[in-house]
Amino acid sequence: MRPDLSTLRSRFRGVIVTPSDPWYEGARVLFNTRIRTRPAILCRCGDTDDVVEAVRFARDVGLPVSIRGGGHHACGFSLVDGGLVVDTGSMRGVGFDPLAATAVAEAGCGWRDLDRVTYVDVATTGEAGLPHGYAGPGGDCPTVRNAGYSLGGGYGLLGRRFGLGCDHILEAEMVDADGRVLRAAEDENPDLLWALRGAGGGSFGVVIRLKYRLDAVPKTVIGGLIAWPIEQAEAVFRAYRDLYVGREDDRLSLYLLLTTDPYPDGEKVVVVYGLYVGPPSDAEAQLAPIRSLGQPLYNTFGPTSYYDLQQSLGEEIIYGLQSKWRGGYFRDDGFDDDAFTHIVDWFRRIPSGYSMARFDLLGGGAIARVPADATAFVHRASLFYISIISLWERDRETEANIAWVDGLAAALRPFLTGEVYQNYADEDLADWSAAYYGANYPRLQQVKARYDPTDFFHHGQSIRLPTTAAMPGIMMPS
Ligand SMILES: Cc1cc2nc3c(=O)[nH]c(=O)nc-3n(C[C@H](O)[C@H](O)[C@H](O)COP(=O)(O)OP(=O)(O)OC[C@H]3O[C@@H](n4cnc5c(N)ncnc54)[C@H](O)[C@@H]3O)c2cc1C
Repeated sequence: MRPDLSTLRSRFRGVIVTPSDPWYEGARVLFNTRIRTRPAILCRCGDTDDVVEAVRFARDVGLPVSIRGGGHHACGFSLVDGGLVVDTGSMRGVGFDPLAATAVAEAGCGWRDLDRVTYVDVATTGEAGLPHGYAGPGGDCPTVRNAGYSLGGGYGLLGRRFGLGCDHILEAEMVDADGRVLRAAEDENPDLLWALRGAGGGSFGVVIRLKYRLDAVPKTVIGGLIAWPIEQAEAVFRAYRDLYVGREDDRLSLYLLLTTDPYPDGEKVVVVYGLYVGPPSDAEAQLAPIRSLGQPLYNTFGPTSYYDLQQSLGEEIIYGLQSKWRGGYFRDDGFDDDAFTHIVDWFRRIPSGYSMARFDLLGGGAIARVPADATAFVHRASLFYISIISLWERDRETEANIAWVDGLAAALRPFLTGEVYQNYADEDLADWSAAYYGANYPRLQQVKARYDPTDFFHHGQSIRLPTTAAMPGIMMPS
């Protein structure tokens, strides 16, 4: 029987969408259009009271819930079949305290929403007396929301210098399964704060806002991208690795990408992009090993602002495609010539021109300086991560594209640690709790037992309640 929505509608200030609304399909669709999950009710919340109403309604009528922000979950766990979606994507308020260099972001803010207020509209004096603004610890995708990103970790171009998104969380506010608003901070519910720094979303409650520390970033940085033909890929890989292995300087932040350049004729390319987060006059020396790598197809590196760089990278993202993500962290000795050969060979056989292999730059800097048990985010040691991302249009292409992702993932297994980044979720992992959380998982289960003892917030890879037998042995800080 369909639940009666009239009471919820009379109290709810946001937008309620059901399958009978003509805009339901548009409201339901995720970044990954392979996901066909069909919720019964989508509650686009306007404020905290809406979140409380939606949670209490679902609980009272016995509907399963999911939580959605920007809808980028790789496996679609932000939707639930036949259930109620608590959608925080429209909650986009930002509060900024320039004296404390902190910001409070509602869960639905994208990183550009925040940076516009804290970086673009601000000028202060920072390192070497140069003009700076403040930036959040974001990634380049404009439609990924800060909560979904930071709760699961958060790798961005500033990560090596200043740490992950989750490392920047100072406080959180969360609506629990009873509709109570809880504060998590060092001085209140610190175990929940520990868990929210890396456990991923959808396991404990609906996060409504996060307080972040911000980073002083020069108003002018040297940033951009350089692309070479795929024939140069192995030389670029080697130069890229040598920039980071054994190097302490954390100001040069470059990502590596194998992709297909749509212009002019679908050429396969290897791309390095990123920025130098230090005085622009020092950048050239840092970039020299990359700049000297033969004739690039194009090179846009030059003075820009952090905001403009992120904005331009975000404009490259194509929406409306089906996708499948797999990946893993490289072993210390795994990012080597053998691995490069496998990657380039597989990439030459890619079935879709939209697909890519992307390398996030990780440890060695601020990310590795945080102990693995200081937050729920355990993956602190590895320097490189590969995301194998297949993207395609039509259902008839699905099998070939999934086979490609699976094939490359299998070929790379000897080079990877077995850990996987929880924000690049993989529905085919045999032991996802070990891959995402390692030794931190039992402690996460204790936090789950304390804050969501009925497992109301549940999805395919949410933190599970501890088994009764496992509970007495594990001591938790209160
Ligand atoms: C194109 C693209 C680019 C990306 N780039 C990066 C990148 O540069 N760096 C990086 O680290 N990651 C990146 N990601 C991964 C991204 O950070 C995660 O998928 C993130 O979880 C997305 O959050 P969302 O709110 O947009 O997605 P959703 O699908 O809405 O949510 C993702 C998860 O978080 C939960 N969640 C969302 N909002 C809340 C909330 N308010 N309270 C509690 N739980 C919540 C959901 O239930 C779900 O489990 C990218 C993903 C895509 C598709």
